[in-house]
Amino acid sequence: MRRNEIRPGKRKLLLMNLSRVSRFGIALAIVCLSAQAKPVELHHRLLVTADDRTLALTLDACGGGFDRSIIDFLIMHRIPATVFVTRRWIRRNVPAMKMLRQHNDLFEIEDHGLNHVPAIIGPGRQVYGLNGHRNGAGLVREVLGGAAEITRQTGVVPHWYRAATGVYDPDAVKIIEGMGYRIAGFSVNADGGARLPAAAIAKRLTHVVNGDIILAHVNQPSSGTGEGLALGLSALQRQGFRFVLLDQSQIHALE
Ligand SMILES: [Zn+2]
Repeated sequence: MRRNEIRPGKRKLLLMNLSRVSRFGIALAIVCLSAQAKPVELHHRLLVTADDRTLALTLDACGGGFDRSIIDFLIMHRIPATVFVTRRWIRRNVPAMKMLRQHNDLFEIEDHGLNHVPAIIGPGRQVYGLNGHRNGAGLVREVLGGAAEITRQTGVVPHWYRAATGVYDPDAVKIIEGMGYRIAGFSVNADGGARLPAAAIAKRLTHVVNGDIILAHVNQPSSGTGEGLALGLSALQRQGFRFVLLDQSQIHALE
């Protein structure tokens, strides 16, 4: 079945999401008004066996532009990637979305939110200079707004969520998971928010081990990410690593 068709199971998931929102979202929104727990960066790895050489590449499209060199490289080398997009990015990068959809055997599109607002809750709270949500209902709108745009563009309902900055309040995790989404953490921050030069990215990728989930950005074409990934991923392929989509994977949390 092509990835641009809505699978029966995913339709069911969407309905489940909506019913769960009504049941859990509002109640948790109220609870979260008083929540001020310290947010945490969530780290996950793939469930693999010891003799696997399996990795997942995840690319965030937060806002801004499109680094086509990354996608061209991945197509040429047949490396699949799970791409987390915001509605804001989709609307600014229509040709890029079309390109991803044309290669839906390689690229899984998942939810990075409506407007790239971090999953922290409470008036005035920020992480990395980005404002969080005033209340839990704002987080629900962020998750569903991104998902609705992806579904509109691709016909596929996303079921993985990665919040802006990768940082989450404990109550935000409950809300997101209560809506039926799986949260996609990572274990290797390859490009430091698209701020690292290519050589540093390639060097970070030399430390990758079986089961790692790699994070990089596909929205900063003037950064070193494209060149760094090309160097680092080529080396990993030569070492016999294979890449999988999150849809094909089980993950577990790192302490
Ligand atoms: Zn982002």
